[in-house]
Amino acid sequence: MALIFDQAAISRIQQASDIVEVVGEHLNLVKKGREMVGLCPFHEDHRPSLYVNPTKQIFKCFACGAGGDVFKFLQMRENLSFPQAVERLAQRAGIQIEPRKTAPSADQADDVNPNDLARVNAWADKFFQKNLHDEKARHVADYLSDRGITSESIELWHIGFAPANGAELAAAAKRSRIDEQLLTAAGLAVRQAGALTDKFVNRLMFTITDVTGRVIGFGGRTLDGLGAKYVNSPTTVLFDKSNCLYGLGQARHAIGSSGCVVVVEGYTDVIIAHQFGFNNVVATLGTSLTEGHARMLKRYAKSITVIFDSDTAGIAAANRALELCLAQQIDIKVASVPQGKDPCDFLLAAGADAFAQILSQAVDVFEFKWERLLGSFDADRTIAGRKAAVNEFIQSIATAMQSGNIGAIERGIIINRLAGIIGIDAASINAQLNRRLRAARRTEAYNLKNQKVFKADLGQGLFAAAQREIIEILLNEPALFEIVQRKVKPQDFDVPALRQAARALFDTLADNHQAPIAHVLACVEEPELSSVIVSLQQAGQEKDNFQKRLDDALAAFARHRPDNANQPTPKLQKVDIRRLAERAQKGNPHTLGMT
Ligand SMILES: [Zn+2]
Repeated sequence: MALIFDQAAISRIQQASDIVEVVGEHLNLVKKGREMVGLCPFHEDHRPSLYVNPTKQIFKCFACGAGGDVFKFLQMRENLSFPQAVERLAQRAGIQIEPRKTAPSADQADDVNPNDLARVNAWADKFFQKNLHDEKARHVADYLSDRGITSESIELWHIGFAPANGAELAAAAKRSRIDEQLLTAAGLAVRQAGALTDKFVNRLMFTITDVTGRVIGFGGRTLDGLGAKYVNSPTTVLFDKSNCLYGLGQARHAIGSSGCVVVVEGYTDVIIAHQFGFNNVVATLGTSLTEGHARMLKRYAKSITVIFDSDTAGIAAANRALELCLAQQIDIKVASVPQGKDPCDFLLAAGADAFAQILSQAVDVFEFKWERLLGSFDADRTIAGRKAAVNEFIQSIATAMQSGNIGAIERGIIINRLAGIIGIDAASINAQLNRRLRAARRTEAYNLKNQKVFKADLGQGLFAAAQREIIEILLNEPALFEIVQRKVKPQDFDVPALRQAARALFDTLADNHQAPIAHVLACVEEPELSSVIVSLQQAGQEKDNFQKRLDDALAAFARHRPDNANQPTPKLQKVDIRRLAERAQKGNPHTLGMT
């Protein structure tokens, strides 16, 4: 069932949700003139292309074309439907809203609403926390104090306990009238042999939130040695391990202000690090650093320090970090804790200063890889062995560069770095790299995944041009609507995307002749259509003399309009949007602004 909210409620929520704050939770925004700019999360962005306009309350990416208001940003970012985004922001702003009605929706009937899932997770979070204070959790409290975790940290990190009896959460959920389907969809319970049983049994529970503080999943550590040491929530619409970092919500501000982030492997490593004042530490959830992680971190940090478990960090881990560094164009450094200790144990034993020293001694990933590589050729420290190491090193850089779309300046920096490390002059490294890149390019096309380009068909010819001009003018000079509405109706527009844009625009301006663009966007549900509207607004604001332009456009509209008075209005189609997997449009997005 899809939710439907009334327009007044939607406007209220939009006004209570500052777009700079909401977008700022998902990426680091930097002030640029009257706007804020950051790395776009909707395409593979290497230079900041996403502009947020605080006055207009809209965003626009000049590379991929994504644009809209605060609702559309969340729809695209968190894969929500329009009503789900409304619900989510209402919750965030603390506004109580009731859906006006629910309408059946064929394509969403079976889908779990992410907001519902977050609610059931938040409930379970409280349940686990409450159980930690129970008599039966004495052994857990002992474990936590053994690990040096303070009661403040227990509060701050929502540490909890999943009871040992195996069906307590399921029973509590029943008492709280929580839908069984949601409970199982969240991976909190499972129906087995007719009985509903808990998924987490006698485990220390870590609550995993997203960057906005929403509970998206859990990690449970065994306390009796039964089963795996750690069990995580299954993948759901909210939770995907390869795109989640434990502690990012808590660490976000420290990462943003210091420009660097430290990545460790365990929950307790993060908690203890924060306890010792290292507030920019996050953890991967049982995976190594993925491209998704690096992409996410890059929106807040300039450099990443990865702490490898010194026992296992080998060539493979170094390769992975190097690839990410080149593909995401972010500085990655590598550090390891001595004697195979994890950061948690090390901090407790050696203290904050010693840990700070380890961080300060982190090595650039290129150097790290080179050292590991030399180590692997150790038995053969001959000229031939060294040459083989150099070849392998350059090959791995070429492979990583291939997918990284690296510009000339970055490339020059990388080559100089390599020259310094391996002691070969930059020119010959450059020549070797070129040879390998040429060979690689012949066999491999550009890696285009994750490229979404919002590009609509806005029609051709003079009639379509007149339609575009009218919308562009109204989006920038809404007071002219009185003149327009006497001469033109939305159904007169024959380009589907423009007709839909006109409909939203006319509906909004009919109520309020001064309505800003954010109001227009609030009655648009599809991100594709909002992107069209924002791009028309952009195109219009570079023009002037709106009154004269409008007169010309209306005259052209009347002249080129097909005489279809006797024909039925063509059936309204879904916007003809082509999400093409093609490179972002040419031109330097950095010379463009939105105001
Ligand atoms: Zn973009």
